[in-house]
Amino acid sequence: MGAITCLNCGMHVSEQIRRCPKCDNHLDQQTDGSTVTIDIAHHGEKVRDALRKLEAHIKETKCGVAQYLKIIVGTGAIRDAALARIMDYERRRVIITHRLEGDNAGAILVTLK
Ligand SMILES: [Zn+2]
Repeated sequence: MGAITCLNCGMHVSEQIRRCPKCDNHLDQQTDGSTVTIDIAHHGEKVRDALRKLEAHIKETKCGVAQYLKIIVGTGAIRDAALARIMDYERRRVIITHRLEGDNAGAILVTLK
Protein backbone atom coordinates (compact mmCIF):
# COMPACT_ATOMS: atom_id res chain seq x y z
CA MET A 1 0.00 0.00 0.00
CA GLY A 2 1.33 3.43 -0.88
CA ALA A 3 1.07 6.55 1.17
CA ILE A 4 0.01 9.99 0.03
CA THR A 5 0.41 13.42 1.54
CA CYS A 6 -2.54 15.67 2.22
CA LEU A 7 -1.92 18.82 0.16
CA ASN A 8 -3.85 20.90 2.64
CA CYS A 9 -2.15 20.00 5.93
CA GLY A 10 0.82 17.79 4.99
CA MET A 11 -0.41 14.74 6.88
CA HIS A 12 0.76 11.36 5.53
CA VAL A 13 -2.13 8.98 5.08
CA SER A 14 -2.78 5.66 3.39
CA GLU A 15 -3.92 6.06 -0.20
CA GLN A 16 -7.00 3.98 0.64
CA ILE A 17 -8.31 6.84 2.77
CA ARG A 18 -10.59 9.27 0.97
CA ARG A 19 -10.79 12.00 3.62
CA CYS A 20 -7.90 13.43 5.59
CA PRO A 21 -8.28 12.41 9.27
CA LYS A 22 -6.57 15.64 10.39
CA CYS A 23 -8.13 18.42 8.30
CA ASP A 24 -11.13 16.59 6.80
CA ASN A 25 -10.17 17.52 3.22
CA HIS A 26 -11.39 15.28 0.41
CA LEU A 27 -8.09 13.66 -0.57
CA ASP A 28 -9.33 12.22 -3.85
CA GLN A 29 -10.26 15.71 -5.02
CA GLN A 30 -6.95 17.33 -4.15
CA THR A 31 -4.70 18.23 -7.05
CA ASP A 32 -1.47 20.11 -7.65
CA GLY A 33 -2.60 20.99 -11.19
CA SER A 34 0.07 18.88 -12.85
CA THR A 35 -0.16 16.73 -15.97
CA VAL A 36 0.90 13.12 -16.36
CA THR A 37 1.70 12.07 -19.95
CA ILE A 38 1.39 8.51 -21.18
CA ASP A 39 1.82 6.92 -24.60
CA ILE A 40 -0.46 4.01 -25.43
CA ALA A 41 0.09 3.85 -29.19
CA HIS A 42 3.77 3.73 -30.08
CA HIS A 43 5.09 0.53 -28.57
CA GLY A 44 3.44 -1.90 -30.96
CA GLU A 45 0.22 -2.04 -28.92
CA LYS A 46 -2.88 -3.66 -30.30
CA VAL A 47 -6.13 -1.77 -29.64
CA ARG A 48 -6.92 -4.15 -26.77
CA ASP A 49 -3.52 -3.55 -25.12
CA ALA A 50 -3.89 0.18 -25.54
CA LEU A 51 -7.29 0.21 -23.86
CA ARG A 52 -5.97 -1.88 -21.00
CA LYS A 53 -3.13 0.59 -20.51
CA LEU A 54 -5.55 3.50 -20.72
CA GLU A 55 -7.77 2.03 -18.04
CA ALA A 56 -4.85 1.22 -15.70
CA HIS A 57 -3.32 4.68 -16.09
CA ILE A 58 -6.59 6.50 -15.46
CA LYS A 59 -7.17 4.47 -12.31
CA GLU A 60 -3.62 5.02 -11.10
CA THR A 61 -3.43 8.71 -11.94
CA LYS A 62 -6.78 9.42 -10.26
CA CYS A 63 -5.22 8.18 -7.00
CA GLY A 64 -2.42 10.73 -7.26
CA VAL A 65 -2.47 14.52 -7.24
CA ALA A 66 -2.19 15.24 -10.97
CA GLN A 67 -5.13 17.09 -12.49
CA TYR A 68 -4.62 16.07 -16.11
CA LEU A 69 -3.71 12.92 -17.95
CA LYS A 70 -2.33 13.49 -21.44
CA ILE A 71 -2.71 10.36 -23.50
CA ILE A 72 -0.68 10.02 -26.69
CA VAL A 73 -2.91 7.99 -29.00
CA GLY A 74 -1.46 8.47 -32.48
CA THR A 75 -3.87 8.71 -35.38
CA GLY A 76 -5.06 5.15 -36.07
CA ALA A 77 -7.51 2.67 -34.61
CA ILE A 78 -6.16 3.15 -31.08
CA ARG A 79 -7.15 6.79 -31.21
CA ASP A 80 -10.74 5.98 -32.16
CA ALA A 81 -11.04 3.26 -29.52
CA ALA A 82 -9.43 5.37 -26.81
CA LEU A 83 -11.67 8.31 -27.62
CA ALA A 84 -14.80 6.14 -27.42
CA ARG A 85 -13.64 4.73 -24.08
CA ILE A 86 -12.88 8.20 -22.73
CA MET A 87 -16.28 9.51 -23.79
CA ASP A 88 -17.80 6.59 -21.91
CA TYR A 89 -15.74 7.47 -18.82
CA GLU A 90 -16.95 11.04 -19.11
CA ARG A 91 -20.58 9.92 -19.29
CA ARG A 92 -20.08 7.79 -16.18
CA ARG A 93 -18.21 10.63 -14.44
CA VAL A 94 -15.02 8.64 -14.01
CA ILE A 95 -13.32 11.67 -15.53
CA ILE A 96 -14.50 15.26 -15.69
CA THR A 97 -13.89 16.17 -19.29
CA HIS A 98 -11.52 15.68 -22.22
CA ARG A 99 -10.29 17.46 -25.31
CA LEU A 100 -8.16 16.64 -28.31
CA GLU A 101 -4.69 18.12 -28.28
CA GLY A 102 -2.15 19.11 -30.87
CA ASP A 103 -2.40 19.99 -34.53
CA ASN A 104 -3.00 16.44 -35.70
CA ALA A 105 -5.07 15.54 -32.62
CA GLY A 106 -2.62 12.77 -31.76
CA ALA A 107 -3.20 13.25 -28.05
CA ILE A 108 -6.18 13.45 -25.73
CA LEU A 109 -6.03 15.62 -22.64
CA VAL A 110 -8.23 14.23 -19.90
CA THR A 111 -9.25 16.35 -16.92
CA LEU A 112 -9.40 13.95 -13.96
CA LYS A 113 -10.19 16.40 -11.15
ZN1 LIG B 1 -5.19 17.17 5.70
